Amino acid sequence: MFESLQERLGSILNGLTGRGALSEADVSAALREVRRALLEADVALDVVRSFTDKVREKAVGAAVLKSIKPGQMVVKIVHDELVSMLGEEGVPIDLNAPAPVVIMMVGLQGSGKTTTTAKIARRLSERQGKKVLMASLDTRRPAAQEQLRQLGEQTKVATLPIVAGQSPVEIARRSVQAAKLGGHDVVILDTAGRTHIDEPLMAEMAEIRAASNPHEILLVADSLTGQDAVNLARNFDERVGITGLVLTRMDGDGRGGAALSMRAVTGKPIKLIGTGEKMDALEEFYPKRIADRILGMGDIVSLVEKAAETIDAEKAAAMAKKMQSGKFDLNDLADQLGQMQKMGGMGGIMGMMPGMGKMKDQMAAAGLDDRMFGRQLAIISSMTKAERANPDILKHSRKKRIAAGSGTDAAEINKLLKMHRGMADMMKAMGGKGKGGGMMRGLM
Ligand code: GDP
Repeated sequence: MFESLQERLGSILNGLTGRGALSEADVSAALREVRRALLEADVALDVVRSFTDKVREKAVGAAVLKSIKPGQMVVKIVHDELVSMLGEEGVPIDLNAPAPVVIMMVGLQGSGKTTTTAKIARRLSERQGKKVLMASLDTRRPAAQEQLRQLGEQTKVATLPIVAGQSPVEIARRSVQAAKLGGHDVVILDTAGRTHIDEPLMAEMAEIRAASNPHEILLVADSLTGQDAVNLARNFDERVGITGLVLTRMDGDGRGGAALSMRAVTGKPIKLIGTGEKMDALEEFYPKRIADRILGMGDIVSLVEKAAETIDAEKAAAMAKKMQSGKFDLNDLADQLGQMQKMGGMGGIMGMMPGMGKMKDQMAAAGLDDRMFGRQLAIISSMTKAERANPDILKHSRKKRIAAGSGTDAAEINKLLKMHRGMADMMKAMGGKGKGGGMMRGLM
């Protein structure tokens, strides 16, 4: 149905054969198409604007690698930025609080709140062996409490006995009380929705929150929500304070834009997605899948991945050259550590290469093992550009700052520097003999 972004970008950018760095014009042309794709995927206008600004900032001046067109390069940057903005994958529901842990479900009417309440209850009880109690606080829709009771029967999760005439706040209090008495680990409160956001709804949510002290407040939202997604998320977050999002109807033909809008506005993690009406249709959230969906085009994924591979290969070649010339700064080391992580850590890489024993010893002497890659990378990213390019300027006060920034200590920074010096010296020596290049290329 949608014209492929790749095609559109292609037609615009075929004329652009610029090499070297992405120009303002390349980026603007590509971003016009990306902007359309995002709007078609129902990402809210404000969010599209700030997103494309961010991408522009990253993209202009970025190196265009051989064999990649400028447009493809922009797509890669857009894709990565989407994934990073959509956040971590599968952040679990946090039950780390004294029992009974209260989970409050909020959202508009028809968003799938009641269904999701039962899905989550079932998952916690079946997968995590939790004793769960569900309660409907929807006193306005006559059938709501009965609907939850039936879902409880179906999923074999206890529901709070219905008492006619109680207010939502009273039911909330009674739920927590009943859970305490009944030895339940978790109480899930299914609050009432409205067809749209209004003041009484927000006031009611705030009151229920005060009465039940929930540990999680999950906003359930229909993924088909278009431009309203931002308002919805902002209102609930500002007035009630949410801890996470659940997006329903991801099995439908929505294009995932609401996910980006809501995540961008609240900064709260998308914890789960609903993928059908059945009780087991609840899944972990994978940012990459949604990013692919937002960009919309099946082949874009492989395109992007291929581009990434090429980037890696070209980076490796450039690095090998640099090493041979005896230049190897901390930026290069960070690149290498990242590559190593990608390739299965030290064991994976060293195993592939004959004759790398010396390098391995060097690293081992400096105390570097796989677990340390992450910390080493953190140290390097806490340094300034100048420090990375010229580690010799790292004296006591700078090290102190870097240790604080990376959550490490001076000893660890010294270890990293020692390792870097060792590697750089060895590379110089190898480069000097004119033989190192091939081996170094192998390292990457
Ligand atoms: P509530 O008013 O927010 O409590 O919404 P309900 O839980 O009653 O759900 C409204 C309708 O949406 C019901 O028919 C559900 O079966 C359906 N529904 C909920 N979640 C999903 C989902 O992830 N996918 C699909 N296809 N339907 C869903």
